Amino acid sequence: MTRRLGGGSLVIATHNAGKLKEIGALLAPYGLDCISAGALGLPEPAETGTTFVENALIKARAAAEASGMAALADDSGLSVAALDDRPGVYTADWAERQWFEGPAGRDWYMAMGKVEGMLQALGPETPRDAWFSCVLAIAWPEGDNVVYEGRVDGTLTWPPRGTVGFGYDPVFVAKGMDRTFAEIDPAQKHAISHRADAFAKLVQDQFRV
Ligand code: IMP
Repeated sequence: MTRRLGGGSLVIATHNAGKLKEIGALLAPYGLDCISAGALGLPEPAETGTTFVENALIKARAAAEASGMAALADDSGLSVAALDDRPGVYTADWAERQWFEGPAGRDWYMAMGKVEGMLQALGPETPRDAWFSCVLAIAWPEGDNVVYEGRVDGTLTWPPRGTVGFGYDPVFVAKGMDRTFAEIDPAQKHAISHRADAFAKLVQDQFRV
């Protein structure tokens, strides 16, 4: 039987303040007190998995074991069917760029261009189907784990369009839409996104609502 969160404290296994705020707000109605792994000074484990599920579990298990509390982690990314589901778990890595003598940073236009270049190299008839995935994993220090997988399907467009959102949003058009995730109202994106899908499954299963 699925283990459930019983209220009390939940460690959010992220060092990203934006994610903590978003996840904390989503879980606030369920009486959980969310604390970030960063605030607890927990180390960030290496994401050595080859699937979103493996990476979400690595992060949730590391935080649960180090803190002695239940922990929630997420992992997400973009998969492109014609590229054998890449970049997948390497979505953020494809945007890594070392500026000349400067700090390493992420360049999303470079990353979108890389995906587009690979699709164009496969020819004009190449299908442009893609999807965003989000896996949420909850781990308990005693060893129990649960995972919830969310997904939103769409197609990739070129050139990039729109200024809201982040990451690959300017090239992603969700099924049934004609504007990219970077052109639509964020509330509209949040209603259908891979993250919303995974959270809906978590809330339904954990809190039976
Ligand atoms: P992570 O889940 O923090 O490892 O990030 C995976 C990467 O996937 C992010 O850095 C984004 O570039 C990309 N990604 C995940 N969700 C979205 C989204 O909703 N829009 C655009 N890009 C996304």
